[in-house]
This record gives sequence, C-alpha cells and structure tokens, in this order.
Amino acid sequence: DALAHCEAVLAFERRRAIDQARTLASLAVSRSDLQMVRLAHERERERSTQLEQQTLKDPLTGLPNRRRLDQVFALLEPGAVAAVAMIDIDHFKHVNDVFGHAVGDAVLRELGQVLQHSMRDGDTAARLGGEEFCLVLPPASLEVAAAVAERVRAAIEATDWERVATGLVVTASLGIAPWHGDVTAALKCADQALYEAKRMGRNRVCAAAE
Ligand code: GH3
Ligand code: MG
Ligand code: MG
Repeated sequence: DALAHCEAVLAFERRRAIDQARTLASLAVSRSDLQMVRLAHERERERSTQLEQQTLKDPLTGLPNRRRLDQVFALLEPGAVAAVAMIDIDHFKHVNDVFGHAVGDAVLRELGQVLQHSMRDGDTAARLGGEEFCLVLPPASLEVAAAVAERVRAAIEATDWERVATGLVVTASLGIAPWHGDVTAALKCADQALYEAKRMGRNRVCAAAE
C-alpha cells in the first residue's frame, strides 16, 4: 500500500544518504592523507637541501668551503676574466700559543665576518682549511683584485681584535693571481704570491705576474 511504499522509499533514501556520507568521508580521509604525504615529501626535500647546503659550508666560520669553492669556479664562464686571492693569517701559531686555541677559533670566526662584509655581489670568500682563506673575484683584472685585496688587508688590520682578547693584534698576508680557467694553477700562483708577501714582511698584498 501507499504507506509501505513511502516507508520503503524513505529507507532507500536514508541508505543512499548514509552511503554518500561514507563516500565523502573516505574521500576526505584520502585527501588529507594525500596532503600529509605531500607535506612529508616537501619536508624531506627541504631537509636534503639543507644537508646539501651544510656540506658546502665550513662549520666554524659559516663561509663556503673548498667544495663550494670548486662549484663557484665551475660556474665561471670559460673565457671570463677573474682573479683569486689567497689569504693567510700572520703568525697564527703564535696567536694559538699565547691566547689559546679557543681565541684562535674566535679569530677565524671574526676573520670570516670581515671577509664576508668586504665582498661585493658576485665575489666569494671561502675557507680553504686551517687559517687559509680564498677570495674569488669575477670579473676582476689583477689591478682590481689588488685593490680589493688591499681593502681586505686594511679591514683585517683595522678590526678591533681587542674585543676578542686583550692585547690581541691580527694581520694577514694576501697573494693574488689571475684565473685562466685552471683552478689548481690559479691557486698555486696565488700561493706563490702569498709566500712572497710573507717573505717581504707580512701584512701586505703581493700579485703574481699576469
Ligand atoms: P705565517 O705568518 O708564516 O703564516 O705563520 P703561521 O704561524 O700563521 O703559519 P703556520 O702555517 O706555521 O701555522 C698555522 C697554524 O694555524 C698552525 C695551526 O695550529 C693553526 N690552525 C690551523 N687550523 C686551525 C683551527 O681551526 N683553529 C685554530 N685555533 N688554529 C688552527
Ligand atoms: Mg698557513
Ligand atoms: Mg699563517
């Protein structure tokens, strides 16, 4: 009869509504699952980028390390003009001996700051290891590089090292050389110029022959 039919239709509609709600709920769950998976992926990607960044940084100074430096050189245009500067702290052994290794480390960190602040856009200051640092100056003729190196030398000398330790004085010597596409050759050349700067009395800039 009519009432029974009505009840049957109602029951059918109710079941359909429940099914629909279930489907919607499961869709919502799978959508939020998907979002979670996506988020996890994103976090994973960020973490691996961070890890990769860390392998390119010197932990003590926060400066780019030798690995990063090789990347910077690799990015230079083959025919481009560029110069490198090698920096070595003067009598650093003496600093460690007199003030202790912790002060020595503080000197390296402070020097890292000085270098970072004296770089222009596109220049790179890196820590090669120990108390040796390097600047990559693209595009710079040896003359421009010499001016940058002299500014850096003066900035190191003018730093208030007394803030690091009472009685502390720090200077550095720099050797500059042109880059002709060969990293090892350029660094070797700059190292020879650096040796010359040491030999001539330290706290100075020497340039290799062009
Ligand atoms: P020069 O003026 O000829 O460069 O003399 P120097 O004493 O600076 O040169 P040398 O290469 O003989 O000594 C470098 C010293 O740097 C030796 C080492 O104990 C110190 N050193 C290297 N790496 C670190 C570091 O990470 N922390 C500290 N505190 N000292 C370091
Ligand atoms: Mg040295
Ligand atoms: Mg030294």
